[in-house]
Amino acid sequence: MTAPGKLRVVVIGAGAAGLCAARHIAACPESFAPPVVFEASDRVGGTWVYTEETGQSPDGLPIHSSMYRDLRTNLPKEVMAFPDFPFDPSLPSFLHHSDVLAYLESYADHFCVREHIRFSRLVDAVSPAEGPEGGWDVTTCRAQDRTVQVTEHFDAVIVCSGHYSDPFIPAIPGLETFPGRLLHSHEYRSPEPFAGRTVVLLGAGPSGVDLTLQLAPVAQRVILSHRQPPLPLLPGNVLQAMPVVAVAGDTVQFGDGAEHRADVLILCTGYRYRFPFLAPARLGLRITAHTVTPLYRHLLPPHHPDLFFVGVCQQVCPFPHFHCQLLFCLAVLRGACRLPSAAERQAAAEGALRQHLAAGGAPRHFHQLGRRQWGYCQELARLGGFEPLPPVVRKLYEATQASRRQDVSSYRSLNYRVLSAEEWALVGADPGGKGAEDGR
Ligand code: FAD
Repeated sequence: MTAPGKLRVVVIGAGAAGLCAARHIAACPESFAPPVVFEASDRVGGTWVYTEETGQSPDGLPIHSSMYRDLRTNLPKEVMAFPDFPFDPSLPSFLHHSDVLAYLESYADHFCVREHIRFSRLVDAVSPAEGPEGGWDVTTCRAQDRTVQVTEHFDAVIVCSGHYSDPFIPAIPGLETFPGRLLHSHEYRSPEPFAGRTVVLLGAGPSGVDLTLQLAPVAQRVILSHRQPPLPLLPGNVLQAMPVVAVAGDTVQFGDGAEHRADVLILCTGYRYRFPFLAPARLGLRITAHTVTPLYRHLLPPHHPDLFFVGVCQQVCPFPHFHCQLLFCLAVLRGACRLPSAAERQAAAEGALRQHLAAGGAPRHFHQLGRRQWGYCQELARLGGFEPLPPVVRKLYEATQASRRQDVSSYRSLNYRVLSAEEWALVGADPGGKGAEDGR
C-alpha cells in the first residue's frame, strides 16, 4: 500500500541508467514510493554484462550485451563516473569492461538499489491507463515464461532499456550474396576466429576502430571502410577505404571504384532504437532506427510529461548524462521544475529538430549531442535546480577526444587524475605507452 501523495514510479531496465534512476527515486521518500525496477535479465549492469554467447540466451531472449572480451573503455574513469560515486582510485583511467560492471554492482550495493529490482521480469507493454487518475498500465511477464502476464498501475514511467542491442543493417546491394562470414559488431567477441583472414569492417565509429585494432595483430589484412578523414597511425596491415557501395560474391566494391576480396565482413554500423513494449502512435511518437521524435529535451513525449526516455542521446558522457537527465525528470515529477504547456513542449521539440536540420545536420544524427551535451546538461541542472557537472568533466573529456584523434592506438595508455572541479593532470602512462606529467 503506497502512502497517499507519493508517486509510484516504475523504471524499465537495471543498466547504468536504471540504477541511477532507482538510486535517486529512493533518495526522495517524501515524494516517491520506493521505486519498482523491472529487469529482464538476472543481473544489474545491462550492456556491461559480458557474455560469450551471441544470438539468443537460454531463456529465448536476444542477447542484450554488445561487449567484446577485450574491450577497454573509450573514456577515462575520471569522466565516466557518476558525479556522486567515483571509481576505485587504484584502477587505471581506461578500464576493462569487467571493472565497469564491478563499479555498477558496487553502485547498486552502496545505494541499496537491488532491493527495488524485480529480476528476470520482462516489460511487455506500457500504455496510458484508462480512467480519471491517469498514469500508466505496465504489463510484465517472467523472462523464461511469457505466457503469464501481470499488469500494474504506476504514476510515472522511466524507460532505461538501452539502445545498443538491436543491430542496424544498412541496405547494401548484394550483401546477401556474400559467401564468407557476415556479422554485426553486436556479435563480435574476440579476434582469434579471424586469424589469417581478410576482414572488411564497415564504419569507423568507436566499435569499428576498436575492432580494427583488435583484429590487425591476427588477421592477414583489415580493411576499414568509412567516410571520415583518414585515421593516423594504424597498424601496417590496415587499409582505409571509402564506404562500401556493393558486394558481389566475395568481392567488396568501394565508393571510389576500388574492389577487394574479403573472407569476413563485420558491420560496425550502429544500432536501432527499439521499444517493443510501446505503441508509439498512441503516444504521439515516431520511432525510426535512429530517432525518437518528438521528445521534449530528448526526454519526454510532449503530451506525456510522466513518461521519460533516459539515455536516448548519443556521443555523450553516458553516466554523468544519465545523472543529469534523471535529476531533471524527478524534479519535474516532484513539481520542483514546472514544464511549459503541452503545446509549447511540442513546439520546442519540433523546433529543436528543425534547427538541427537547418544547420545541415542529418536526421539520423539528431540525438548525437557531441559538443551540445554540455549546454544540454547545464540547462537541465538549471531548470531542475541541482548541481551542474563540474567543468573538469568537459575539459578532460575534450582532452581525451583530442588525444584519441592524435593516436587512436595508444590514447588508452594514459592515466589522469582530477585535481579539482576545474583541473586535471596527466599522471603517466602504462608501460609501453606514452605520457608525461602535464597539469591543466
Ligand atoms: P543498458 O546498459 O543497455 O541497460 C538496459 C537494461 O534494460 C538491460 O539490463 C536490459 O536487460 C534491460 N531491458 C531492456 N528491455 C527491457 C524490458 N522490456 N523489460 C525489462 N528490462 C529490459 N559508455 C561509456 O561511458 N564508456 C565506454 O567506454 C563505453 N563503451 C561502450 C562500448 C560498447 C560496445 C557499447 C555497446 C556501449 C558502450 N558505452 C560506453 C555506452 C553504454 O551503453 C552506456 O555507458 C550505458 O551502460 C548504457 O546504459 P543503459 O542503462 O542506458 O542501457
